Amino acid sequence: MTAERMEFQAETKRLLDLVVNSIYTNKEIFLRELISNASDALDKLRIESLTNSDLSTGAEAEIFVVPDSATKTITISDNGIGMTREEVIANIGTIAKSGTKDFLEKIRESNGTSAQELIGQFGVGFYSAFIVAEKVELITRKAGTESACKWTSEGAGEYELEECTKDSNGTTIILHLKPEFCGDDEFNFTDTHEIERLIKKYSDFVRYPIKMNYEVKGEDKDAEPTTEVRTVNSMKPLWTRSKSEIKPEEYEEFYKQQLHEWEAPFETFHVKAEGTVEYTALTFIPKHAANNLYYSDYEAGLQLYSRHVFIMDKCKDFLPDYLRFVKGLVDSPDLPLNISRELLQQSREIKVIGKALEKNILKRLGKLLKDERERYEEFWKEFGKSLKMGVYGSMFDTKTQDDLKDLLMFATSHEGKLSTLAEYVERMPESQKKIYIAAGKDVESIERLPQMELLRDRGLEVIYMTDPIDEFVVDVLRKYADKEFQSITRENFELDDAESQKVKAEVEEIAKSHEELLKDVKEAIAEVNEVRLTSKLKSGAVCLATSEQGPSLTMEKTFAAMNNPYFKATQILELNPNHAVFSKLESLHEQGKDTPAFKEMCRTLYSLALLIEGVMPKNPVELANKVTDLLTK
Ligand code: ADP
Repeated sequence: MTAERMEFQAETKRLLDLVVNSIYTNKEIFLRELISNASDALDKLRIESLTNSDLSTGAEAEIFVVPDSATKTITISDNGIGMTREEVIANIGTIAKSGTKDFLEKIRESNGTSAQELIGQFGVGFYSAFIVAEKVELITRKAGTESACKWTSEGAGEYELEECTKDSNGTTIILHLKPEFCGDDEFNFTDTHEIERLIKKYSDFVRYPIKMNYEVKGEDKDAEPTTEVRTVNSMKPLWTRSKSEIKPEEYEEFYKQQLHEWEAPFETFHVKAEGTVEYTALTFIPKHAANNLYYSDYEAGLQLYSRHVFIMDKCKDFLPDYLRFVKGLVDSPDLPLNISRELLQQSREIKVIGKALEKNILKRLGKLLKDERERYEEFWKEFGKSLKMGVYGSMFDTKTQDDLKDLLMFATSHEGKLSTLAEYVERMPESQKKIYIAAGKDVESIERLPQMELLRDRGLEVIYMTDPIDEFVVDVLRKYADKEFQSITRENFELDDAESQKVKAEVEEIAKSHEELLKDVKEAIAEVNEVRLTSKLKSGAVCLATSEQGPSLTMEKTFAAMNNPYFKATQILELNPNHAVFSKLESLHEQGKDTPAFKEMCRTLYSLALLIEGVMPKNPVELANKVTDLLTK
């Protein structure tokens, strides 16, 4: 049978290039990655054999590592689940994860400077083989099937696939090492003792035996040495050891090995509990958010063990969705070994453990915020969105709202720094009754809003809602420390100080004598619900407000982006009666509400108000023509 040549999916190719060419200071990690995959394959077989007895071969699950200086290879085999031909193409020839594009985009933008860190976030597992190998062969046979297939690649964009034979299920990976990795230089991955050291260092707690061949010389010095098989790893689960004995490096290695991570965790939680439910949990907050954290293919969840035996990966029932970024495991003797996913959801033990873990994580975050502000901000930049989603999802769950509201951070007009709500309230002057917020696509566009001018003048601080979810979050919270949130672009916004109230009364007087004008302006602009005069503008001529209830303009944009065009903001056009444009409008009105000049003026003012809010007017050309007219006059 001839081999078939296939191309890597384009994105895979690019990622491969990056892995191989980015300067890995740590060439050794390929072994950890491949052993980790082998261990997963053994887990999968064990779990599947629970429900499919045809799969259990009776063979002891094991991983074999064979370095060979004669052939300049190192071979890693497992007798796990194996892969079918289609699975090889899907798993090894492509990278199916969402966010790959974003990821590559980010790398491109960073000009390669932080490529290594970014790859760390992504995790490229199998491809790390090409860091040390010039050619990789993978021979695999899926458990329960007869046919095997062989995949070969030199990592240059193409791979070959051919049918072959293999005695038993599992996967064998042969790395043909680059010359620099089999000599006497820094690295010699064909050396048994070197490999033994690496296995002990990176893979000691792998729960299956990792075996190697050792040459042993007998008493008789002239006799040929015999080969003896030894298990290299201790297999003792790290989490069963006492906390005081575990060094930070050990946690770090465990995290990388067990959870396929490439960089140290941000925070580690190791808890042993012996209350109503007995359990040990070892969980971590990663340093960086996974690229697909908010995509549907991100699989959250903790690994589940019972009496140190692996039961299931990605058990989602422990932690609430807003802690989806937390990784790790739970080991509890109170859980039965062959529990199904459906039963798990109803398990009281899982609920008890989950609640305790959640509480513990939130407590640590609160402490971090208090004692290590900078680190908390680092955390916030990566995972703040998740906590905000937690608040948003807790519409009827005031307990979660209470738990999370003090952990929220926002940019504000105060020194451009991130603030908690408590800090904002602390700085509020006594006369200020509400918490002011303003939404926009970024800090700059909010600061340019004409409504900001007066607030700046009065030294009032505004919270900037730059993430589309922010307004929804405060909508759910409604209040903080008994103070309502007030958007400065909502119709009911007004300033409480005496000066502002005085101006407001004056404007109301003017409005009374201009009812006719306002009615006619509204008639000229079908899109707005109301036209009124405002005291909230200083040098600006117009602005758009939205009704007190219902979506804001930024919310409308978010809904539209989610293909939901029915949620529309109720628009109110507000005019500054102290602006010269207003007098112009008045004089045009005097010439008749149906004159083209008056109508055009109204439409132009509306288009300008939209632009200020960052909304594109329906007919931008009309506006452009108008402006060009003015420029040439
Ligand atoms: P990850 O392990 O993060 O999913 P990898 O690139 O390491 O990414 O592996 C891709 C996929 O290939 C794995 O998810 C698994 O399905 C499959 N795979 C890799 N190694 C093995 C193996 N030894 N046995 C069976 N399947 C494997």
